[in-house]
Amino acid sequence: MANINLFNSLSRNKELFLPLDSADNKIKIYSCGPTVYDYPHIGNMRAYVFSDLLKRILIYNGYSINHVMNITDVGHLTSDADEGPDKLEQRANSTNRSAWEMANFYTDAFMRFLLHLNINKPNTLCKATEHIKEMIDLIQLLEVKGYTYKINDGIYFDTNKFPRYGELAKLDIDGIRPGARVHFIADKKNTTDFALWKFSRRNDKRQMEWSSPWGIGFPGWHIECSAMAMLYLGNSIDIHTGGIDHIPVHHTNEIAQSEAATGFKFVNYWLHCAFLNVEGKKMSKSIGNIYTIDDIISRGFDPLSFRYLLLTSHYRSQANFTWDALKGAEKALNAIRSYIHEWPVGGNVIDNIKNNFINLINDDLAIPQGLAYIWQELIPSTKYSAKDKKATLIDFDRVLGLELLKDEAPVTKIIPSNILKLASEREILRAQKKWDKADELRETLFLAGYVIEDTPSGPKLKEIIK
Ligand code: AMP
Ligand code: ZN
Repeated sequence: MANINLFNSLSRNKELFLPLDSADNKIKIYSCGPTVYDYPHIGNMRAYVFSDLLKRILIYNGYSINHVMNITDVGHLTSDADEGPDKLEQRANSTNRSAWEMANFYTDAFMRFLLHLNINKPNTLCKATEHIKEMIDLIQLLEVKGYTYKINDGIYFDTNKFPRYGELAKLDIDGIRPGARVHFIADKKNTTDFALWKFSRRNDKRQMEWSSPWGIGFPGWHIECSAMAMLYLGNSIDIHTGGIDHIPVHHTNEIAQSEAATGFKFVNYWLHCAFLNVEGKKMSKSIGNIYTIDDIISRGFDPLSFRYLLLTSHYRSQANFTWDALKGAEKALNAIRSYIHEWPVGGNVIDNIKNNFINLINDDLAIPQGLAYIWQELIPSTKYSAKDKKATLIDFDRVLGLELLKDEAPVTKIIPSNILKLASEREILRAQKKWDKADELRETLFLAGYVIEDTPSGPKLKEIIK
């Protein structure tokens, strides 16, 4: 088998990948899944395209995979410091839906987005709410081993008892003074201690709460990943993935509680993807730049154009989403699809091209280099027959996952943001029954070259074709 190198966040180095169990070549992978109190945004989906690419590369190299992903459907507290309101409960209370209905609704949306992006489903997709017992068992084990203590609002993990605490994030524990980095829960022994189990407040009935040996409450947000990873994959796993935001707290805590409980190394390779920004800015509600796969589809794009766009930046570099870049990605994807359409069937995979491609992508998932290689050395090459080039591209698609045999997507016209803004202002005016002003905006839009059709599913903007 060819060598694969992966950048391990534990060592901050590229390391040769060696499976835990070399006998059966089955790789155990765990990925932190979505928190389902809202639609997953395109940044979240970058984390899942990344783990999908990792799996596809391992499979392409001849490994088989056992992949587990959790769904965080237990409301956890807003901040990493185990405090603040619980977003799931909060959102459920502000709508007519129960917390359970809401979690199911957004889990379904997530599943739909996986499909749109051609992300292969994990072997096991497990919900936190269905594994409360395993979490309680794990907390009890930690209790027996002396790693926990009880304070007013819950059971906490004493990070001082775990000497390697913070290794993954290279945390300067002595430098973290109470109250310095995060707001400090008064009775916690150390700033970095974290909740394993939180008590429901008296007179404050939660929608999601369970009885436990310590009273009615709900799990802290880190314990679910350790409990489910160990249940489905065992005490030690090959690879754990997530976004870089998980390094300092969530994954640091996963390591502490798992290794304290079992005495075994929890994860051999920690892989983290960098963030996706939108128009150069961090996605946020206040800027209004949080997009979902539905937004991409509703603007007429093939969602695989977004997958292509993600493939053009390395998973460890920050990526930037713009509608123009998406348009460019769509063009490139369409161009490859149209070559494949034109070229005849019946060819063979070109061995030396394939070897070079594998060498590139096996170097820490260098997919952008792999794509560049396809564009520079394969597509324009006159050394090989069109049918062999076609066979080779179709083979590479096992890794790329771009459905290259699909028809070209219709070329999308991007509606400029000022036009979209006018259209949504018109909606507000209509909701306020300010018909005259709304009509004025319709007129403005018309002069700018767009008509609005009011359809049962809402207004649709169309460019006037001249
Ligand atoms: P969450 O639902 O917030 O737990 O996030 C789900 C996954 O998305 C985690 O692995 C996060 O690290 C990752 N993530 C969150 N925001 C972004 C972003 N803007 N770009 C890339 N990954 C992200
Ligand atoms: Zn996790």
